[in-house]
Amino acid sequence: MPIIDARLLRMSQLYAPTLKEDPVDAEVASHKLLLRAAMIRKVAAGVYSFLPLGFRVLRKVEQIVREEQNRIGAQEMIMSIIQPAELWHESGRWDVYGPELMRFKDRHEHGFALSPTQEELITALIRDELRSYRELPKSLYHIQWKYRDETRPRFGLLRGREFIMKDCYSFHTSQASLQEHYDEQAVSYGRICDRLGLQWRPVEADSGQIGGSVTTEFMALAEAGECGILYCDCGFAANTEVAHANYDLEEFRPSETKGKLTKIHTPGVETIEELATYLCVGANSTVKALAGKDEKGQVTVLFLPGNHNLAAVKIGRLMPKFDFLSDEEIKQAGLVKGFIGPIGLPGDIRVVADSSLQEIPTWLTGANEEDCHLAGATLERDFTIDAWEDISEALPGDACPICGLALKDARGIEVGQVFQLGTKYSESMQATYMDADGIEKHFIMGCYGWGITRCIAALVEQSYDEQGIIWPVSVAPAEVVVIPLAIGDDKVEPTAESLAELLIQQGIEVAIDDRDERAGIKFNDADLIGWPYQLIVGKRGLEAGTVELKTRATGEKILLSLQEVVRVLTDLVEEQRKLYL
Ligand code: ATP
Ligand code: MG
Repeated sequence: MPIIDARLLRMSQLYAPTLKEDPVDAEVASHKLLLRAAMIRKVAAGVYSFLPLGFRVLRKVEQIVREEQNRIGAQEMIMSIIQPAELWHESGRWDVYGPELMRFKDRHEHGFALSPTQEELITALIRDELRSYRELPKSLYHIQWKYRDETRPRFGLLRGREFIMKDCYSFHTSQASLQEHYDEQAVSYGRICDRLGLQWRPVEADSGQIGGSVTTEFMALAEAGECGILYCDCGFAANTEVAHANYDLEEFRPSETKGKLTKIHTPGVETIEELATYLCVGANSTVKALAGKDEKGQVTVLFLPGNHNLAAVKIGRLMPKFDFLSDEEIKQAGLVKGFIGPIGLPGDIRVVADSSLQEIPTWLTGANEEDCHLAGATLERDFTIDAWEDISEALPGDACPICGLALKDARGIEVGQVFQLGTKYSESMQATYMDADGIEKHFIMGCYGWGITRCIAALVEQSYDEQGIIWPVSVAPAEVVVIPLAIGDDKVEPTAESLAELLIQQGIEVAIDDRDERAGIKFNDADLIGWPYQLIVGKRGLEAGTVELKTRATGEKILLSLQEVVRVLTDLVEEQRKLYL
């Protein structure tokens, strides 16, 4: 077997079978391109191997993340993927995590999980070993495989069942100390995004399964993203799931009703759209009702502005197991489907309304009677609400809660998330230290996750064209590919080899496409793989003493003399590197 020169990637020896056709089950551009460019291969749904080219990208991404975490004093370690069930019972998450947690038993019937995240393991470690406030704060991270049996592992590396995450956990004696490190982590994440060359935004978010209250997601902006973002040029940005906005609601007060409670006959008008059309009003003048029940079976009616939907995450925070009533259950609860309103509801029903509706004290709403609505239903005078909550989903065009301008929407890929956990895990797992006053106190914790493999796909989503991937210099498998066009030619091949060697001496990372292939194939593969610079060495050019330099990102080609090419290219690469420092 030939020995691969570690400093020079030789395409003739590299395991990099590029594919001509789009793989059929790849739904998004990044997935197609990462497969075609021989970066990854599928093992099973949501499970991938990294081939040598992809592995180089992976290592570079990891290194950037590592450098930026080390810079803020986080310490690298490596923790086990296999986690004993007892730890998950201690935190109480064994039962709540659901089927996403990949579980198995060993030969002694002991339960285990494959790590989806590491709070349990690290809290146990710190609990058993850190005793004094003098040893705090501490911040520890690892870069390691994670396992989540996602309902729909989709889009390749964007949502895997096995993926690599950098996860960091910090332990503090005070909220102020946690806040300080949380802020450092947020800065660190911004730097990681910049060095990777991502276009990104920090957004307000929900904490999901991890818990805690203060949290920020880092979104790579991309059409293929699964997350909706609402943002404003003033700097406000939030995940649509949790975004709070101010709505432009209007009261429906036709002059003839003089503000009196007025029944309107609305035969067969069951939906908000039908009601708005029937009365020639905007949906923002109507109030919509939804009926559901919580885990104890308590029937609850929710009122929302007619032009906004229920936000699943927001209601999930209020009522963790909220289910809509079936038609049968609606009847049993004494409600009339399509005509539910706040006046005359059965007494045992709980009434929750979106806080925005406080702005319009007079509602156009259902009459709790078949084929009837009410105009002029007036808060306090005619009905009361048990709880006002933010339960509706904000929309683009709603007013920014900070500056009042219209919110815009974008799609994003969540590449990282930082959380203030507080004492959630230290309390459930009884992890304490001895404070200066001799009292045992719970550690105050933060956690900070970054999707290493996901952000590779996010990068591709942001940077590709019809020909293939366009890597930024910071993570490309190599910075330059040298392409000799005539293998075996006594000028072309030696010149290409010596240019590669000279570039390496300048500290540039170089690949050489020394395969005995047609020029067209080499060009296509170079564009597909996405090396930032291509140095093309051909017979005709050499006769004139020139080689061609192509910049992948712009497609620009320039002819350079053999004397200047190494200097020009080195300068270009170094300039690019500076952009990602
Ligand atoms: P999502 O909402 O996309 O399911 P999450 O909020 O559950 O992600 P976290 O627990 O915050 O994810 O994990 C930290 C990071 O790990 C995420 O920001 C993301 O970059 C990455 N990540 C999470 N789940 C996956 C997955 N299934 N495949 C690849 N990366 C993932
Ligand atoms: Mg997250």
